[in-house]
Amino acid sequence: MGMFERPPVLGQCPEVGASGVILGGGLGWLSGLHAASCDNLLSARVVAADGRVLTADSERNPDLFWALRGAGANFGVTTSFECRLHPIGPVTGGDIHYSVRDARVVLRFFRELMDDAPDAFQATLNLTPGERGVFVSLCHAGSETEAEQTLRSLRAIAPPTKEFVKRQEFAALAERPAATNPANTPPPQFRGIQTVYRDRLSDDLIDVIVDRFGQASLETIMGISHYMHGQVCRVAPSATAFPLRQAGGLNVRLTYTWNDLATGQRLTEWADESLRLLRPSGDERIYANFQTYEARSGAAAVYSVNFSRLAGIKYKYDRENFFRRNSNIPPTGNARAGSKL
Ligand SMILES: Cc1cc2nc3c(=O)[nH]c(=O)nc-3n(C[C@H](O)[C@H](O)[C@H](O)COP(=O)(O)OP(=O)(O)OC[C@H]3O[C@@H](n4cnc5c(N)ncnc54)[C@H](O)[C@@H]3O)c2cc1C
Repeated sequence: MGMFERPPVLGQCPEVGASGVILGGGLGWLSGLHAASCDNLLSARVVAADGRVLTADSERNPDLFWALRGAGANFGVTTSFECRLHPIGPVTGGDIHYSVRDARVVLRFFRELMDDAPDAFQATLNLTPGERGVFVSLCHAGSETEAEQTLRSLRAIAPPTKEFVKRQEFAALAERPAATNPANTPPPQFRGIQTVYRDRLSDDLIDVIVDRFGQASLETIMGISHYMHGQVCRVAPSATAFPLRQAGGLNVRLTYTWNDLATGQRLTEWADESLRLLRPSGDERIYANFQTYEARSGAAAVYSVNFSRLAGIKYKYDRENFFRRNSNIPPTGNARAGSKL
């Protein structure tokens, strides 16, 4: 049986490595149906800071196993993963494009669509000033009839300018690269990605997105990724180290590409200012795998409710903070603090 008849639950972009995705949470097309990548981890082998090779699963080193599922980069080098796979048939997937003039109406509809979305449906929204306009990239892993129903709703928001959606093997969709540079242009040399986590696509947030989009240049894509719903939200925030699981939560994404320094600087300034406006002061929460800014509260912004327990487990497994080039959890307290499972 091919790998993609029983695929693992991974991210939406084939370019990124499975280990970082799983160890930081892992959100993708199948998260509504089968939760996050880390929720499908069954066991892992880890080389710890002191050189010991440990097995972590629900029975062996369960505190480490809990910590690996969301904060894994902090606890050792994971050398193998055993993951639960899920059978999956053909899916309906692809893109529906709209005019940039319809950005606000599409954003509003997107919120309604995702709030009521069946577990089998996931979509990201992309706003580009170029000829691709505003487009929804989608995967519906339910029946063809259910998928058609969702497509009808999408076509009714505003007149689509183009549509590339078809019934296909999940592998074909999963292997599609992320939307980055404008179509039919050579791949750019550099790419920046910044994201901010928000717990609701509110009207205020939509206003800021539309306003910044109005000032965006051709080399940029703004987007909404990983709208939280379904199975990933039914796992409690403290069941694993990955806490950002509230239904309606989302990541606002800014992607920009460049070849020369001056353009890079101009786009980075636009993205930094956008990020400041998109993020309310005082709410620094950010998804570990999208950590593109250092919060004043450090890793507490990433791990929120799980932070102090993680600090205790870090003390137990990596007292000298050997693994620190990550969303770093400072080892704190005594060994018992993190081991109450
Ligand atoms: C274009 C793009 C698209 C993305 N799409 C998604 C998406 O759809 N869903 C999603 O959830 N995320 C997505 N991400 C984020 C992605 O999950 C992270 O960038 C992730 O860290 C990538 O994994 P990696 O193995 O390449 O990690 P690296 O960048 O190599 O490492 C990231 C961190 O993990 C640590 N690490 C990596 N491997 C191990 C290991 N074996 N043991 C211990 N620590 C390790 C590293 O030390 C580092 O701290 C995307 C990122 C990009 C750039």
